[in-house]
Amino acid sequence: MNIFVLNSGSSSIKYQLFRWPNERPACSGLVERIGSGQATITHKVFDLQAPDAPPREQHRTLVLPDHEAGLHEVVRLLSGGIIASPAEIDVVGHRVVHGGESFTAATRIDAAVKAEIKRLFGLAPLHNPANYLGIEVAERVFPQARQVAVFDTAFHQTLPEYAFRYALPTALYTEQRIRKYGFHGTSHQYVAARAAAHLGQPDARLITIHLGNGCSMAAVRGGRSLDTSMGFSPLAGLVMGTRSGDLDPSVLLHLLGPLGYTPEQVGTLLNKESGMMGLTGSNDMRDISAALAAGDARAALAYDLYAYRIRQYIGAYAAVLNGLDAIVFTAGVGENDALVRTRVCQHMEFLGLQLDEAKNQARTPGLRDLSGPASRARILVIPTDEELEIARQCAELLA
Ligand code: ADP
Repeated sequence: MNIFVLNSGSSSIKYQLFRWPNERPACSGLVERIGSGQATITHKVFDLQAPDAPPREQHRTLVLPDHEAGLHEVVRLLSGGIIASPAEIDVVGHRVVHGGESFTAATRIDAAVKAEIKRLFGLAPLHNPANYLGIEVAERVFPQARQVAVFDTAFHQTLPEYAFRYALPTALYTEQRIRKYGFHGTSHQYVAARAAAHLGQPDARLITIHLGNGCSMAAVRGGRSLDTSMGFSPLAGLVMGTRSGDLDPSVLLHLLGPLGYTPEQVGTLLNKESGMMGLTGSNDMRDISAALAAGDARAALAYDLYAYRIRQYIGAYAAVLNGLDAIVFTAGVGENDALVRTRVCQHMEFLGLQLDEAKNQARTPGLRDLSGPASRARILVIPTDEELEIARQCAELLA
């Protein structure tokens, strides 16, 4: 079965093709700056017989007016040996950011599902429209394939009501659906399952820490998310690359009132100009750690703030879980930035966390256990793989 996993953003398409049940992708790629005369495609083909061989890569810059043109270009690249025609794609697995309260698992897409994803535009104006467009385009390009939606929010639909409700007038929940939804669910679900399997403890009390450009944490037990740091939108919780994370709501009132910001300006400020970007001028941890090494005081404060917020959530989620068996670092920063892990694990002996600094500094691929001999709870690094998780969920749904 050929499963094509598609992540359609506002001006980009990320994809992977799986020859299921092989869990290694046959190819992957990224189309960027769609809608411009300077769109780029990076397409990688992997040798499934030689897993350690580097992929064959192609790069192109071209004119791509829209997503449909982009996906046709991808099909053209795939047709160069991977598949003979688009008809060979059996399943398209779509990443959809917001599933509201309607979707608790991967779902076969039909007219009603599309209508519901569209209805949710109001709750996820920055993400769902691009995901929806990806579905429509894929239906035209792969008309005979089964289309499946995998939602970022679905894994967190198990939160108890006292965890997902805000202390606002009830009607804002019952009529406007204002509540915590949580995001990055596919990633939390994937690393939590791997951690539980690694520990041989299906019921392990886990705190999963996804630190990419967007950052979030989840408290997971028995494969169920019990709480998570993002909320009504992906703005809540941790300090992120360009998003503020938690904030006193009065700051918004102050911006909108006395300081004269428009709602749109506040949105841009909180989503694009805050977080590490706002604190240091860069959203890339590699730049910030270089600045830190060069003695930059802003970078030092930003690191402290970033790690402090994560530590606060670890404390909170250990309380939610009534104990802790492991914390799991994942995504770009979590997998690569040893200093963030050092800072997060400092003074956490009370929770039984003791980091082995030599293991922390070693750069070995795959799942790593960084716990020292005195650690009662494990400290794990597990590379996330949202595309594989989407492919798995598609395969399970259609089995
Ligand atoms: P996204 O949320 O966009 O999927 P990723 O999980 O790929 O993001 O994470 C991207 C971020 O990871 C980058 O912005 C960068 O800050 C960080 N990152 C990537 N590689 C490294 C590295 N070697 N050391 C520190 N940080 C890194």
